[in-house]
Amino acid sequence: MRQTIGILANALIDAFGYRKPMQVTEIMIYLSPNYSETGYSVYPKCKNTLEREFIRFCERCSQRLDWSGYRNAELVYPKPHIKPMLS
Ligand SMILES: [Zn+2]
Repeated sequence: MRQTIGILANALIDAFGYRKPMQVTEIMIYLSPNYSETGYSVYPKCKNTLEREFIRFCERCSQRLDWSGYRNAELVYPKPHIKPMLS
């Protein structure tokens, strides 16, 4: 019984793990219409990309963020949209 409570407690900690900061490790590079590259932070929890940097909490999911690795973050590019060939 005691063990069951422990498992449940761990599940709850996982579910409400937002208090523990997650490192931002990816920057999504978008090509803007004037062909300049703009980097957007990729939020580790919800994978949303937002232009704002160094905010303490994600605006979407309230995940607490850790920017300590941001300078070494990996640059990622959105997958190209492959349009089906029209026959
Ligand atoms: Zn988020």
